[in-house]
Amino acid sequence: MGHSKPHVLIAGGGIGGLSAALALLQRGFEVDVYEQAARLEEVGAGVQLSPNGARALHAMRVLEALERLSCTTEGKEVRHWKTGETWNLFDLGAEAIERYGFPYLTVWRPDLLEILTARVRREKPDAIHLDSRCVGYARNGERVSLLLADGSEVLGDAVIGADGVHSQIRRVLFGAEEAKFSGMIAWRGVVSMAALPPHMARMVGTNWVGPGGHVVHYPLHRGELMNFVGIVERSGWLVESWSTQGSAEECAADFTGWHEDVHRLIGGAPSLYKWALMVRKPMERWTIGLATLLGDACHPTLPMLAQGAVMAIEDGFILARCLERWPGDIATALTRYERARSERTRAIVLGSAANSRRFHNPALADPVGANEYLDREWSRAAITVRYEWLFTYDVLGAEI
Ligand SMILES: Cc1cc2nc3c(=O)[nH]c(=O)nc-3n(C[C@H](O)[C@H](O)[C@H](O)COP(=O)(O)OP(=O)(O)OC[C@H]3O[C@@H](n4cnc5c(N)ncnc54)[C@H](O)[C@@H]3O)c2cc1C
Repeated sequence: MGHSKPHVLIAGGGIGGLSAALALLQRGFEVDVYEQAARLEEVGAGVQLSPNGARALHAMRVLEALERLSCTTEGKEVRHWKTGETWNLFDLGAEAIERYGFPYLTVWRPDLLEILTARVRREKPDAIHLDSRCVGYARNGERVSLLLADGSEVLGDAVIGADGVHSQIRRVLFGAEEAKFSGMIAWRGVVSMAALPPHMARMVGTNWVGPGGHVVHYPLHRGELMNFVGIVERSGWLVESWSTQGSAEECAADFTGWHEDVHRLIGGAPSLYKWALMVRKPMERWTIGLATLLGDACHPTLPMLAQGAVMAIEDGFILARCLERWPGDIATALTRYERARSERTRAIVLGSAANSRRFHNPALADPVGANEYLDREWSRAAITVRYEWLFTYDVLGAEI
């Protein structure tokens, strides 16, 4: 090895890749990140970071900066798709901090990416290489090479594929994977808070539930923006992409008959993007020798537990802990990382799929059935069972 600590090559500079880079740099590793995009920018959508994610960001010393830009929602409510009837689910503000020690944040993705990028560069100014698409990986004796699209090759001691749901590193390591259309697409948009009426412009996260669809909205960027995600069961769209736009008319048609507040959000979004939600079986393993995967590259998930980005952040931190514990034996470190993350990430992937049935239950079509259904499925006790194990996970204390 050319360094006292291993040189880690990370393919992909998204939320997961940058979290891993930061956690590793903070432990004194040599790290380089290769990102295909010419500029580091996240789509202007929102992401919910539950207390387990906030705890991990705190351990990376970025939580304070993020809190200044994001929102701590006061609570979460469920609304009936047609009547607008509202059920208060739980308090997320003070109660989250009291119960879990950390807030439940709603974050504008560009804010999170900017903070992670700045902190990575503070540790190592030239750690992030843009316009660098990774096309392959090869074992090179005791070391590894990451192959780039321009034909160059970089040598390191470990390769981490953090290159998202269409991961090239996963393809090289494990071959083509099977993805099945879930039968649902997600609409996404961001609305200016100033454009919304006072009863909507609140620091509250809302889940609208209905037959064949659900809508989630929550505040972002110091409360200046409202994130909109509308998930609907339909066919005819199979592209998983953050950047494919649809029209407001098409989105409104998908929510025909839904409450006018939902249509206010659709009408208020300057752009609406659509993403086909695909389902993949959890991978049995995602490490081979000196190469491993993290985030969506190894456990892409439906967004119904809002844990995809949070899992990627947790992965990065646990990976850094494992490499710190076994710096002279990378294969062991990577295997231990995978072992530490496997059961939890599998449960989240399967739990998210189960939650989509909960959000889209046919009982929600009629108001009486909806009341009974919500009282049963969304009672405090039921919610505690579904979310407590997620929110209490501690990246510092988790067994590795
Ligand atoms: C509608 C929707 C709502 C969601 N809401 C939430 C939520 O509220 N909370 C939550 O925790 N999660 C949520 N998620 C999931 C979350 O967005 C993802 O899990 C998260 O972005 C995964 O991060 P990642 O870093 O693994 O991958 P990505 O964010 O996809 O980053 C991968 C990076 O790798 C780069 N890349 C790709 N290929 C290459 C290559 N060959 N070479 C170099 N670079 C490459 C890409 O340009 C990108 O920068 C949601 C997802 C969707 C679709």
